[in-house]
Amino acid sequence: MSDELKELKEKLFSARKNGWDRISAEDAAGIDGYCEDYKRFLDAGKTERLCAKEIVALAEQAGYVPYERGMALKTGDKVYVCNRGKGVMLAHLGRRPLDAGAQIAAAHIDSPRLDLKPNPLYEDGELAYFKTHYYGGIRKYQWPTIPLELHGVVALKDGTSVAVNIGGDDGDPRLVITDLLPHLGAEQGRKPLAEAIPAENLNLLLGSRPVAGEGSDRVKLAIMQLLHDKYGILEDDFTSAELEAVPAVKACDIGLDRSLIGSYGHDDRVCGYAALRALLDLEETPEKTAVCVLADKEEIGSDGVTGMQSAAFDTFMEDLCDAQEVPLRVCFEKSFCLSADVTAAFDPNFAEAYEKRNAAFLNYGIGLCKYTGARGKSGASDADAETVAYVRRVFDEAGVIWQIAELGKVDLGGGGTVAMYMANRNITTLDAGVPVLSMHAPFETVSKLDCYETYLGMKAVYRSVF
Ligand code: MN
Ligand code: MN
Repeated sequence: MSDELKELKEKLFSARKNGWDRISAEDAAGIDGYCEDYKRFLDAGKTERLCAKEIVALAEQAGYVPYERGMALKTGDKVYVCNRGKGVMLAHLGRRPLDAGAQIAAAHIDSPRLDLKPNPLYEDGELAYFKTHYYGGIRKYQWPTIPLELHGVVALKDGTSVAVNIGGDDGDPRLVITDLLPHLGAEQGRKPLAEAIPAENLNLLLGSRPVAGEGSDRVKLAIMQLLHDKYGILEDDFTSAELEAVPAVKACDIGLDRSLIGSYGHDDRVCGYAALRALLDLEETPEKTAVCVLADKEEIGSDGVTGMQSAAFDTFMEDLCDAQEVPLRVCFEKSFCLSADVTAAFDPNFAEAYEKRNAAFLNYGIGLCKYTGARGKSGASDADAETVAYVRRVFDEAGVIWQIAELGKVDLGGGGTVAMYMANRNITTLDAGVPVLSMHAPFETVSKLDCYETYLGMKAVYRSVF
C-alpha cells in the first residue's frame, strides 16, 4: 500500500482498537483495585435488598446522609433516599442550581433469579421442596444442578420482619434443582432448549430426612421445624415473604491472565457499582448536581413502586428542587441521563447471533447504545445524534475507552433498559454499559477493563455539563 493511501485511511477511517492497546499506564494501574472492590460488592449484594443495603453502607462511609423532606440543602451536600429497601437514589448538590438540570446516571440492581411462590413448601417422593416462580428472563435449563442459596425477608403480621439467609455463609448448606440423568434423558434431549426444563420443574430440593414417627409429610414437617427454630416462622408466613434463590457462587477472576470477572448478577450491578463508585469518588463538587439512581424491577419491566417508572424518582428530584424553589419540569428538561445497563458482548462461540460491525467487544470499553429495543427499535428511547455526540465528546475529553454497541443481529431478539422511562420524563437520555458474555445466566462474564472504563465514563458524565 502506498504511503499516501495509508495516510488517507488513517485520517478518514475509524481507528478503534482493543482497550489494552489504548489504555494509559495510569488507568491500567487502577483496574485491579477497582475490580477487587467490585467483586466484594457483588458478593455482598446478591439480591436487590442486600445490594441496596450495601449501597447505603458505602454511601454513608463516603459522607452521604439520609435525605429528609424539608431539609435545607446547599452546594456540596450529599444525600440519599433508600426506596423501600430495594432501590437507592443519591445526589451530590452541584454549584449550579437545579434549574440548570442534573447529571444523572441510572442503573438497576435487580437480577434474574428464582422467587419462591407464596405457598412454596411441599413434599413429594419423601423429599421436601420449595416451588419457585422465575423472575426476569432466564434460560431455564441453566438453573438445575448448580448450588443455590436463598435470601430475603419474611414479613410477619405484627409488623416485624425476619431476614432469611440459607446458604449465603461459608459452611452453610445449599439448595439445588435436580435434572434428569442422561441415561433417561433421550426424550427430554429431543425437546427444544426452551422447553426441556419447564418452569414448574424449577423446584428447590430442601431435604430428605423425616421426623421420626408415622404418617405423611414428615420430611416437610422436619424442614418446617428447622425453619421455625431458626426464624420463628409458620407455613402461612410464606404468604407475606419475598425469598429469592440465587446462585451460591462467589465472584472470581476468569482466565489465566485474570482479565475477566465471572459472577452472578453483573446485569446490572456492574453498571450500578460504576455509577455509585464514580459518584462517591467525586473529589470536587460537580458543576451540576450529580444524581445516581439504582432501581429495582428492571428485569420485569421497571413497573412497580421500586421500579424506574415509579414516581419515587420524581418525588426525590422534586424534593431537591423544592429546596431551591425550582419547578421539577425545568430541572428535568435541562438534565442528562446516562442509562447504564449491560449489553451483549460478541461471543465467537455464537458468532452467528451478532452483527460484527456493530457488536460490542470485550476490552473495547463502555458500549454506547443509541437505541435498544426489538423489532425495529420498538421499546427504545433512541437517543438523538446530538446527545450521542455530547457523550462522545465527554468520553474522549476524559480519555474514556468506549465503543458502539448494538445487541445482536436485527430481528434476532432485543432488550430493554430504564432509558425510555427517563426519556419519557423529558430527560435527555443515552444508553451505555458494560458488554457481558452469557448475560442473564447464573454465572456471567465481563472484562475488567470494561468495568473500569465504565466507572471512568460515569465520573466524566457527573463532572460534565450537558
Ligand atoms: Mn440490565
Ligand atoms: Mn437484564
